[in-house]
Amino acid sequence: MTITKYDIKCPKCNSKNRFKVNDELDDIKIDDVINRSIFHLSCKKCNQDIYVEYPFKISNERFIIHYTPMKKEEIQDDYREYMRICDTFDDLKEKLMIYNDNLNDIIVEFIKDFLLNQMDNELKSNSTELRYNGIEGENILFSIIDQDKIIGCNKVFYDNLMKKMKFKKNKKCVLIDKNTYHKYYKMRLF
Ligand SMILES: [Zn+2]
Repeated sequence: MTITKYDIKCPKCNSKNRFKVNDELDDIKIDDVINRSIFHLSCKKCNQDIYVEYPFKISNERFIIHYTPMKKEEIQDDYREYMRICDTFDDLKEKLMIYNDNLNDIIVEFIKDFLLNQMDNELKSNSTELRYNGIEGENILFSIIDQDKIIGCNKVFYDNLMKKMKFKKNKKCVLIDKNTYHKYYKMRLF
């Protein structure tokens, strides 16, 4: 664990604020990442809310995620079942929600692609991206970006994919998204 101290200038009153950044978090901090409070400080002089983005990693015994804003390079680290990088905050938040709900992000990306293909053309012409939104009862839900709409699939669909898909073991942290997920699994034939 390394704590780095930064002097952050308040955008409102210009006074200097000391901001302590811990760049190795464990999983008790998942909620603080999701609600962005780890990026937040209040100006000690004028109480202005200030958000400071910085790279860090968050891990437990099952996963490591490196948050690397704007960068997509693979990162070497100790072996875990899930080794990921995320280059945007929305990706990071989605990954953490997926782990919190005990789902596999590769299957989630597969389902997103499947649902996008099923969407009618009117919906498809307005948006081509889905975000994981949570589990409700028997359904896995996704929000359609820019449309304020939710679509979903039954958890049974996910469970069947889990039986059919075989996942590649990563020895580095990699980016898994709609463009890359198909490199990391194979379908079982039997
Ligand atoms: Zn201030």
